[in-house]
Amino acid sequence: MLKVENVTKYYGDFKAVDNLSFSVKKGEIFGLLGVNGAGKTTTFRMIMNLIEPSSGNITFDGRKINYDITDKIGFLTEERSLLTKMTVKEQILFYGALKSLDNDVILKRLDKLLERFGISEYKDRKINTLSKGNQQKVQFISAIINEPSLLILDEPFSGLDPINIELFKSVILELKEKGTSIIFSSHRMDHVELFCEKLVILVKGKTVLEGYLKDIKKDFRIKRIVIEGDVNKKDLLKINGVLSVNENANGFIVNIEDEKFAKDIFNYLKTRKNINKYVVEEPTLEEIFVAKVGEAYGK
Ligand code: ATP
Repeated sequence: MLKVENVTKYYGDFKAVDNLSFSVKKGEIFGLLGVNGAGKTTTFRMIMNLIEPSSGNITFDGRKINYDITDKIGFLTEERSLLTKMTVKEQILFYGALKSLDNDVILKRLDKLLERFGISEYKDRKINTLSKGNQQKVQFISAIINEPSLLILDEPFSGLDPINIELFKSVILELKEKGTSIIFSSHRMDHVELFCEKLVILVKGKTVLEGYLKDIKKDFRIKRIVIEGDVNKKDLLKINGVLSVNENANGFIVNIEDEKFAKDIFNYLKTRKNINKYVVEEPTLEEIFVAKVGEAYGK
């Protein structure tokens, strides 16, 4: 289990991470979320032992993270870091060696992974001749060649088409099933919702929301109502408790302050003809994220 306890990081006088605590169990997928500059990369670097926390503790399976332990961590960084003049095989041999693996072990794993990602034919091709999506696959393979116990994925889906997103998703879920602890970071809340059971949202290094996604959604007072039919946006905005009304191709999404205002919307809909749909739903993670980050910025 990864444990981050009361971790603070200063760069000079600037506090980039402020008293952060969370834990990620074996086989759990954890979301570390925040807007640009919130402190996510700084946190990853501290977990990887690349920089020291100013205070607090980070342990994996009860031990302070050192080079032995980082050999068992995989890190897919947001900024791509492939050595593009190398071939795929040379690149993976290089990363595998950094993780203290023998060449024969690396090559055996590489063949399996290339097959899993459907890019076996590119093994001896230079990376700069591969498409962006295939380069991303190579980057992902380099992050998991050490069969990590802890895997950090920073924007793993960037540049991928929907088919490859599905492929990455199934590989990530296989790793979870095998017991890998995974930290996932993305600005795409729909992607975070695909996986993360537990999450933290950071604003300027401080935690503004944490817990299990299921509980966060249940406890969040703002609800969304999906309406399809003949309604008027201006009328909806006048109703008690309505925070916003968004129109899309099918109808309207109305955000209300609290579930108790749903009946006011329902009463309004009774005055309209041709209503095809009225559903009260839990908010999306994106709506929660925007509300929580907005609150923290005093908006
Ligand atoms: P993004 O989503 O844009 O990648 P982030 O959440 O990863 O952002 P960090 O890169 O951890 O954010 O940065 C947190 C804060 O710390 C930012 O205000 C950044 O400018 C600052 N910072 C990061 N690295 C350094 C450094 N080496 N020296 C000084 N300040 C830094």
